[in-house]
Amino acid sequence: MKIQDKVQNFLEKIKSINHLNAFLQVFEEEALKKALELDLKIASGEKTGKLAGLVFAVKDNIAIKGKKLTCGSRILENFESIYDATVVERILNEDGIIIGKTNLDEFAMGSSNENSAFGPVKNPYDETRVPGGSSGGSAVAIATKTCDVALGSDTGGSIRQPAAFCGVFGLKPTYGRVSRYGLVAFASSFDSIGPIANDTETIAKVMEVISGYDEKDSTSSNLPVQNFSELISRTPEKIKIGLPIEFFKEGLDEEIKSKILDCIDFLKSNSFEIKEISLPHLEYSIADYYLLTTAEASSNLSRYDGVKYGSRVDNPASLKDMYTLTRDEYFGTEVKRRIMLGTFVLSAGYYDAYYRKAQKVRRLIQNDFLKAFQEVDLIISPTTPTTAFKLGEKVNDPLSMYLSDIFTTSANLAGIPAMNIPVGFDSKNLPIGMQLMANHFREDLILQVSYFIENNFIQKKYRD
Ligand code: GLN
Repeated sequence: MKIQDKVQNFLEKIKSINHLNAFLQVFEEEALKKALELDLKIASGEKTGKLAGLVFAVKDNIAIKGKKLTCGSRILENFESIYDATVVERILNEDGIIIGKTNLDEFAMGSSNENSAFGPVKNPYDETRVPGGSSGGSAVAIATKTCDVALGSDTGGSIRQPAAFCGVFGLKPTYGRVSRYGLVAFASSFDSIGPIANDTETIAKVMEVISGYDEKDSTSSNLPVQNFSELISRTPEKIKIGLPIEFFKEGLDEEIKSKILDCIDFLKSNSFEIKEISLPHLEYSIADYYLLTTAEASSNLSRYDGVKYGSRVDNPASLKDMYTLTRDEYFGTEVKRRIMLGTFVLSAGYYDAYYRKAQKVRRLIQNDFLKAFQEVDLIISPTTPTTAFKLGEKVNDPLSMYLSDIFTTSANLAGIPAMNIPVGFDSKNLPIGMQLMANHFREDLILQVSYFIENNFIQKKYRD
């Protein structure tokens, strides 16, 4: 099929899912133009890039030059980026096509996409339910097959949790594997950009292009990038899998548990070694995550002051009024809650009791993982404690909303890579996700096992 026809099909699909509110912008003309250029290049035998013809959607907290960068917030409603994020630059250099930008929770703070200033996204499996968040628009774009890949960002689960709720693959890379330049900062020591797609192969291909050192991000790693798309099809050998007892305790939905144990049985019968492990500090991960990320967010979001970026109230009486009224008017409730919590955590007198202590706990959680990875190669857990919940169900109960990230935040605290793999459906026909975690920079192992599960377990059991 010509790339132009493929893009045309995607554009029609996007129109047909308009009511799900997954896209905030669609670049119809540009995507078609780029597709035509590529078709001509191919017809004339010219060399094309590694991602030629692959069609991308980009979460709207990642910068594309000349395009709006709203972050799902009124404060950036009319803000246009003057540069490309490094990931975008790398995708375009390899002839990827960007078809649009996707909806998200405001500044990526949320687990349901209900915190977007531009309205919630709906889950295509049941439109009365949430798609997860904060990369809900990206996960829905993939679940509804409106593009090949969608970029998301993950600070505490924002790629994996919506991927689980929407039945798609989503990888949060090791912290530092993919440049954050051009990703609007939420919690800088946690944020990672990663791909969401309908198969492991596409994820591997994209990871090869977007990973690697970037002089514009001092936290990016200079370790060489593996040849993921070649590595994945090798049959994994002698892999030891750890099952953390703390992840399979009360609070986990029985249907999710049984589906994951089903997959574990399959792995066992394919000579994977399965071992119970313990991550004793895991129970502190949600509290720790919310102490540290709100602290970082309160500092990062101080730049939205009505002067440097974005919206500003009209005719404030004083400079102070301009700051406070602008922030009061244009930030949503959840963002304000986090700024206040973070400011409190960092305030004189509480810094030692909260922030410093939380940093120490972060190290303990990381140590738990490092110790576990001396014994096992991979850790398997559920991605989420429940399948997709109802729209509105948790909006007035932030704690219960925060708890939907109970299995995902620890990977960000430790900086390790983690991926959602769709492994089946519950009795309501809602997708169930399984999480694979590996040691730092072992995306290769995760992708290899994901590919194996996808082709030998999922396809046989659940796919048509
Ligand atoms: N749901 C989590 C939060 O609200 C994670 C968000 C994210 O990963 N960006 O903070």
